[in-house]
Amino acid sequence: MTVDLPAQAVTAGAVPEVCARHGQPATRRRKTVFRSYTPKWVYVLLLFGVLPFAIVAAVLQKRVKAPTWPFCADCGRLRTRRLFIGVGLVVLAVVGAVALSALMAPNDSTAGSIVLVFVLLLIAGLGVASTAANGPIASGYVSNDGSTVHVRRAHDRFAEQVAALQPGPVPQPHQAYPPYPQAGPPQYPPYPPAAPQYGPATQAWPGQAQGDQPR
Ligand SMILES: [Zn+2]
Repeated sequence: MTVDLPAQAVTAGAVPEVCARHGQPATRRRKTVFRSYTPKWVYVLLLFGVLPFAIVAAVLQKRVKAPTWPFCADCGRLRTRRLFIGVGLVVLAVVGAVALSALMAPNDSTAGSIVLVFVLLLIAGLGVASTAANGPIASGYVSNDGSTVHVRRAHDRFAEQVAALQPGPVPQPHQAYPPYPQAGPPQYPPYPPAAPQYGPATQAWPGQAQGDQPR
């Protein structure tokens, strides 16, 4: 599974105690640089040359530096193996090219294709050697916006620790408060249906003033 860590947490060193790949307790902690992938459209710039491509790719690349990233002993062995294979391929390409150039006739027609094989061997060797860096060993890469470090093929124990490190879901608003009043015009009590109902006017007593309003 792919596990996501906020870039800020990685930079701050808030990372699990186990390695991402094997889920084993870290035997060493290393400075590790995670990088983003080059967006696919940038490769179109290769039509205009390697230099425009390299410049734009470098400008767009996001990096997240982890001061202490956990690695176990198996991670260390994997790193050694990749480095050994990569450097081995590079040495093979260089030594082979030198040896063959000494053996071959100067105007051999197969020279071009043989040179190509050694160039490809050299590129492959450099490619393998680059995967021995800490970031690729951890299988981590940065999102294109630089906000997140994605760890591919993360071990379950690593995923659990990442989940425990991150703050929980945002708490819901406090339910003790009364809900906000509904939008709309304020509700007034209904008006009395009509003016107060007085009883039928009574006949005034002789001598009594008209009107019964008390003063
Ligand atoms: Zn490991």
